[in-house]
Amino acid sequence: MTTVPTVAAPAAPAPLVAGVEQRRHLRTAVPGPASLALGERRAAVVPTGVGMVLPAFVERAGGAVLVDVDGNRLVDLGAGIAVVNAGHAHPRVVEAVRRQAEAFLHTCFMVTPYEGYVTVAERLAGLAPVAGPAKTVLLNSGAEAVENAVKIARAATGRDAVVVFDHAYHGRTNLTMAMTAKAMPYKRGFGPFAGEVYRAPMSYPFRDPAGMTGEEAAARAIGSIRTQVGADQVACLVIEPVQGEGGFVDPAPGFLPALAAWCRENGVLLVADEIQTGFGRTGDVFALDHEGVQADLVTVAKGLADGMPLAGVVGRADVMDAVHAGGLGGTYGGNPVACAAALAAMDVLVDEDLSARARGIESLVRTALEAARADAPAIGDVRGRGAMLAVELVRPGTTEPDPAEAARVARTCHQAGVVVLTCGTYGNVIRLLPPLVIDDDLLRDGLGVLVEALTGRPA
Ligand SMILES: *Cc1c(COP(=O)(O)O)cnc(C)c1O
Repeated sequence: MTTVPTVAAPAAPAPLVAGVEQRRHLRTAVPGPASLALGERRAAVVPTGVGMVLPAFVERAGGAVLVDVDGNRLVDLGAGIAVVNAGHAHPRVVEAVRRQAEAFLHTCFMVTPYEGYVTVAERLAGLAPVAGPAKTVLLNSGAEAVENAVKIARAATGRDAVVVFDHAYHGRTNLTMAMTAKAMPYKRGFGPFAGEVYRAPMSYPFRDPAGMTGEEAAARAIGSIRTQVGADQVACLVIEPVQGEGGFVDPAPGFLPALAAWCRENGVLLVADEIQTGFGRTGDVFALDHEGVQADLVTVAKGLADGMPLAGVVGRADVMDAVHAGGLGGTYGGNPVACAAALAAMDVLVDEDLSARARGIESLVRTALEAARADAPAIGDVRGRGAMLAVELVRPGTTEPDPAEAARVARTCHQAGVVVLTCGTYGNVIRLLPPLVIDDDLLRDGLGVLVEALTGRPA
C-alpha cells in the first residue's frame, strides 16, 4: 500500500471586519476567567430578572464574530436577536454614527427637527409593504412601536379591540405583555394586563391537522374572531408574518393573504409586526413581500439601525394622519445618531443585497439541518425563511416538545464558542439569526458545531 503524501493547502487568510478575524478561536473555556469575574460583579448589581443567554462578556465585535474579554472569538448566530443584519460594526454604519455624533447628539425632533428623521421616513416609505403614500413615526423600541400602532389603529377606526395570535411576541410593556402569548417569563406576576386584547389561532403547519391549508387556518382564525369579538369591534389585527420568540412559526402559504382580504372587507387595519422579520432577514426586504401582501401599518425596529436603538411605525398616510396633532412622539424617538445608523444600514441592505445573502444562508443551513435529521431523531421540524431558520426538538417519533434537549444543544454550542438562541412557546426551538454578511466558511463552522451538538457526532 502506498501512502500519498499530503501537502496542506495554504489556508486562505480569514477576512477581517472592523479588525476582527472572521474565524472562531477559543483561548479559554467559555465563559473564561475574566468573564466569570465580571459575572460576579454583574450578579451583585443587576437583577436576576434580566436574562443572560451566554455569560461571556464582549469586548469588541465585527461582522459575525464577537471577541470576549478572555480573547475568545465566538461565532455569532444570533445577531443580537436579529439586530445587526449588516453585521457588527459595519464600516459604513460606524462612519455615519461617528459623523453624526460629531455634529449633534440630540435636539428632540418634536422641539427642533433635523433632516435625518425625514430621510429615514422617506426611505421607509419606499421600502415598507404599505399601499400608497406612507408616513412614519420613529420611536425607541419595538414594544413602543407596537403600542403606537395600536394607538393609531384605534384613533383611525374608532374601535377598541386588538386581535393577536397564539405564540405571538410583541414586547414587555403593559399593553404588549397583554398581546404577547407566553406567560413564563414574559407575563407571570406582572398583571393586571390591558383589556380589549383577543387571541386567535395561528397557522402552525407542524402542529396543525395534517394538510391544513393557509386559507383553512385563516378561516379558523376568522371564525374565532367573529364569535369572540365581532368584526365591527376590531380596530386591528396584529401579526408577525413569521413569528419570532414564539418559535419561528412560519404560517402556511395563503394564510396572510386571506387575513389581509378579511381585514379589508371588514374595515379592520392589518398591522404587520416586522420587528424581527424586517430588513432582509427572511430573504426579502420584508416578510410580507414573499406573498405580495400589503399592511395598513408596519412596525419596525431590530434590523432597522444595525445596533442603534431605533423603531418606527410605517403606515398608510391617511391612517397615520388620523391621530390629532401632538398625539404621537417621545423625547428620544428618532434620535439623530440612530437615524444616521439606519440610513447607512438601509444603504448596505440595498447595495450589498442582504436579502439575497439571506437566501444563500437559507440554502446552506437548510441542507445541513435536513441532512442532520437522519442522525438526530429529536429534530421534529426544520423551518423558517431566509436567515431566520429554526429546528423544533421533540421526543423522537412524537410532536411532544423537548425543551431539555434544546437547552442541552444550545449549551453545547455555547461552550464551543457558537452563539445560538432558543425560543418557542414550549422552549424547544433552536433558532438561527446570523448577521446576513456572515461568510460561508464561518457559517459552515458554526453549523458544524450545531450539527455535532444535535447528532452527537462530528459533522
Ligand atoms: C423583539 C420584538 C418586539 C419587541 O421589541 P423591543 O425592542 O424588544 O421592545 C416586538 N415584536 C417582535 C416581533 C419582536 O421580535
